[in-house]
Amino acid sequence: MRRIILLHTGGTLGMAPSGEPASLAPGRFLEHLLEQVPELGQLAQLSVEVPFNQDSACLEAEHIQVLARRIRETSQDFDGFVIIHGTDTMAFSASVLGFLLADLGKPVVLTGSQRPLAFVRSDARSNVVNAVDLACRAIPEVGICFGTHWLRGVATDKLSVGLFEAFQSPNLPPLAELGAELRLSPQAGTFERRVPPGLGAVLETAIHTVTPHPGMPWSLTPPGARAVLIQAFGAGNLPMGRPDLRAFLADCAQRRLPVVVISQCPHGGVDLSAYELGRQVEALGALSGGLHTRWAALAKLGLVLGAGGGLDEVRAAFSVSWAGEPMPSGAWPQV
Ligand code: ASP
Repeated sequence: MRRIILLHTGGTLGMAPSGEPASLAPGRFLEHLLEQVPELGQLAQLSVEVPFNQDSACLEAEHIQVLARRIRETSQDFDGFVIIHGTDTMAFSASVLGFLLADLGKPVVLTGSQRPLAFVRSDARSNVVNAVDLACRAIPEVGICFGTHWLRGVATDKLSVGLFEAFQSPNLPPLAELGAELRLSPQAGTFERRVPPGLGAVLETAIHTVTPHPGMPWSLTPPGARAVLIQAFGAGNLPMGRPDLRAFLADCAQRRLPVVVISQCPHGGVDLSAYELGRQVEALGALSGGLHTRWAALAKLGLVLGAGGGLDEVRAAFSVSWAGEPMPSGAWPQV
């Protein structure tokens, strides 16, 4: 039997019916899980740890580092890793871990649920069963298993507050479809690993994010910010007729503050050559984030800046796929 460790970090799945995060001792959580989902014992030899137990809206950079470290430390002891995580920030953790653990060589499956495990009508049971099943399959991916899909972590976003299909990877087909049969994509586990060495000791989070709307005034980047992430319109367009926006971009360029542009649209990405406005954005020094989700972009920025990188390293990071995140010219064919 495969040896699988479940790292329980909180979120809805383990919540008590009162709505509080269940404050169960690690031993008690495994008992609770096996009471609710006895078939897990048929799938794998399970261990459980609770590195922290909280709503994932309270996630800090250190929490993700704790998970990355724990998985590295125990990588010889287990065949696969399941992380039970709140859904709110799961895509960010999946993105950071997708980069940091790209070379682990073992499955890391993040899951959670929209309804607690203890509820009668809950998605928790099937999500955990599918996650453990996937973790037993020796496919080297860091992915989110939720509803009827397994998705590459670095390509995911949470797109529904309440539906059981809460996550998508809008620009990358699923790694697996989880229906009556578990149908794996032949692409699962096959991406090229190009993460630069030496990342992860610090995850920089002082990144100024801006989501413009029509007429929005632009003020200069707050002091202390190490980079700017703009979620622009469509293919990367911004209202370049605005003097305050031009001053904003010129100020960032003058300070060599990296500015990365991604799209407000989940499907498709930024192409700064497509429109005159995009060309002007680029001429003022901003970099295209292509098809990066906001989470993958924040993860990459955080890791590069955390390792002491600056504008040149950020430019290099966004021009290549580190761990299978989709790039404008390299999307998979539909399977
Ligand atoms: N607020 C919860 C969390 O992210 C939501 C969930 O788990 O679904 O921890």
